[in-house]
Amino acid sequence: MSRSAHPAGPRHADVLPEGHYSAPPADLNTLDPKVWAQTVDRGADGVVRVGGVDVKALAEEFGTPAYFLDEADFRARARAWRTAFGQDADVFYAGKAFLSRAVVRWLHEEGLNLDVCSGGELATALSAGMPADRIAFHGNNKSTEEIHRAVEAGVGRIVLDSFQEIVRVAHIAQELGKRQRVQIRVTVGVEAHTHEFIATAHEDQKFGIPLAGGQAAEAVRRALKLDGLELIGIHSHIGSQIFDTSGFEVAAHRVVGLLKDIRDEHGVELPEIDLGGGLGIAYTSADDPREPHEIAKALTEIVTRECEGARLRTPRISVEPGRAIVGPTAFTLYEVGTIKPLDGLRTYVSVDGGMSDNIRTALYDAEYSVALVSRTSDAEPMLARVVGKHCESGDIVVKDAFLPADLAPGDLIAVPATGAYCRSMASNYNHVLRPPVVAVKDGDARVIVRRETEEDLLRLDVG
Ligand SMILES: *Cc1c(COP(=O)(O)O)cnc(C)c1O
Repeated sequence: MSRSAHPAGPRHADVLPEGHYSAPPADLNTLDPKVWAQTVDRGADGVVRVGGVDVKALAEEFGTPAYFLDEADFRARARAWRTAFGQDADVFYAGKAFLSRAVVRWLHEEGLNLDVCSGGELATALSAGMPADRIAFHGNNKSTEEIHRAVEAGVGRIVLDSFQEIVRVAHIAQELGKRQRVQIRVTVGVEAHTHEFIATAHEDQKFGIPLAGGQAAEAVRRALKLDGLELIGIHSHIGSQIFDTSGFEVAAHRVVGLLKDIRDEHGVELPEIDLGGGLGIAYTSADDPREPHEIAKALTEIVTRECEGARLRTPRISVEPGRAIVGPTAFTLYEVGTIKPLDGLRTYVSVDGGMSDNIRTALYDAEYSVALVSRTSDAEPMLARVVGKHCESGDIVVKDAFLPADLAPGDLIAVPATGAYCRSMASNYNHVLRPPVVAVKDGDARVIVRRETEEDLLRLDVG
């Protein structure tokens, strides 16, 4: 299609970013099942529904903006990961993607384990009844207080991230008369993101202990000597929004190399290997994520092959998907407030939320899609940018999207795939109140995290 023939008009074509949609979708009313939660559909009246409840009713009852989470979809995805990896592996849901007590209970019921990385996440997990031995504690700078609480609670593993921490955890465990199960997080020199990965000798980042220069081997040496620690394995997490397993292949090769060195030096075969999370989801129709069973098969084969090559018993594998479980299960519902066509550029559509409920667009240049959900429309597509209400020109929710040209104030629009890293990264910028998370299932909607109130804000401000 030539640029001048662009359906949104020749001038619109000039501002489309490279590699992005060159044309609007054939029908703006169609919802791509890849980016929407499982039970989302459009009713005969044109109004979009989730779990059998339409968004107009949801907006009326819970207000906007709000996150609506498809509970059946969440459980189905959690179960799919659990089933794909089977009994010889463990799936740890990465709590930082989105954590609430309801989510903890669903994970518990579906047989998943849980990653936490702060005292607050640990408190949430324990208060919702997740057994401590199914919790892994992460972080590059856990406080001694956090370590103390985690060891005392009896967490299943602490993932050690530095030489200082090896000593700290050992010391605290001994003080408490315990032997703490630990893994050592290593950096393998693989940086994976979306469709590419880079394998290097060194990795310039704050997490983990480098394999390079024998540092990880030295960490293992020290950990094995300390009575307070039971070293159960090696951990590696290589990136986020990854679609391809080739980065994991290089990581597994390097981690297994370390396991072999450990066997040769110390005569021990560590029983576990954790390959981290980072599996990608579809934010737009252009993304093609792989199914959990394909990923499980690929990762299991890679580790098995590498271990056979090194004549090691295949260790128990664990993975830590966060986004891949919760990301696709929720959408953010907004009400359109103002519409500003900028001649020759695009139309700015302002909604009642913004960077306080979705910082990913501003922070990572993340792409999202958006749809008019309170009705259908036969109007022409217009190139739009969905922006928030914050005092910041970078307050963008969806950078480039097509919406119907008859969009009007009061319409409801929804941004799908906001289950991960949206509510969990939400802020009070401009003293905007953080939206609720509402779980919807079988015609029933219930608040699992309530909307913040001005009272909540003022309670923290002690004058
Ligand atoms: C963030 C993180 C994850 C989860 O990443 P997703 O992209 O949500 O799958 C898993 N493990 C570790 C150590 C992480 O830091």
